[in-house]
Amino acid sequence: MPELPEVETLVRQLRVRLVGRRIETAALSHEDILSGTTAAELLAELPGRSITNVDRRAKHALLRTDTRILAVQPGMTGALLVYERPLSPEEQHYAVLTCALDDGALLVYRDVRRIGTLRWLDDAGWASYDARLGPEPLDPEFTAPMFAERLGRSRAAIKKVLMDQKVVVGVGNIYATEALFAAGIDPSKAANRVPNAQLVDLHSHVQRILAAAIASEGTSFRDYVTSTGEPGNFQLELWVYGREGEECRVCGTRLASTQEIDARGTVFCWRCQR
Ligand SMILES: [Zn+2]
Repeated sequence: MPELPEVETLVRQLRVRLVGRRIETAALSHEDILSGTTAAELLAELPGRSITNVDRRAKHALLRTDTRILAVQPGMTGALLVYERPLSPEEQHYAVLTCALDDGALLVYRDVRRIGTLRWLDDAGWASYDARLGPEPLDPEFTAPMFAERLGRSRAAIKKVLMDQKVVVGVGNIYATEALFAAGIDPSKAANRVPNAQLVDLHSHVQRILAAAIASEGTSFRDYVTSTGEPGNFQLELWVYGREGEECRVCGTRLASTQEIDARGTVFCWRCQR
């Protein structure tokens, strides 16, 4: 699942490429990824729109136009791509939304399994959607004490709370697993039983790891590609995620995995994370 760093990477690349471009035509292959809009509305309104900015909120890429905002939440297999050439038959097959731009390029939302979501929102619609999302983990105004207070309210497993988009946005399985290892916190421990000092420490690890992932253009997990189709390159820096059964790089203990916290596997070190 693209998490905050992958979407941030995508948005930074798209911003340079797309701001100032006009959408000339739009085509949609499937309606099932639309939320709060219809194919008829979207296809009537996209042509003629100028792209004024591209930014990110939580795990959404926001294509801001001179009227509405196209909020793209890529699913596990979703990607926003710019092609400077016609699509191959395979690319055509998985292109869900295809927009022809005024400079001849194609902006494509590709999604093999179509579990992403596209929303077409006016300012008020976006404001009300945005208000339901938690704070941004890299926002300087969302301080360590605020982070600790917010997470520490819950009796649920700390990993689950860290991944709850209403508590703090953008942190999914990869970065939650990594940050909890770095902070030495047992991912299954009830959040309200984690000492405040450790939650404060967790905040700094979340920020450090997300920033490092953005700096290296996102993690290369299955299906993730940047806007130019390149894989991300963060995978060499992962300490625990995806390393079940391998040795802990800190203490040498064999890394364990549990399915008991959430539906996804959580890899951790018995010795380093108490
Ligand atoms: Zn260890």
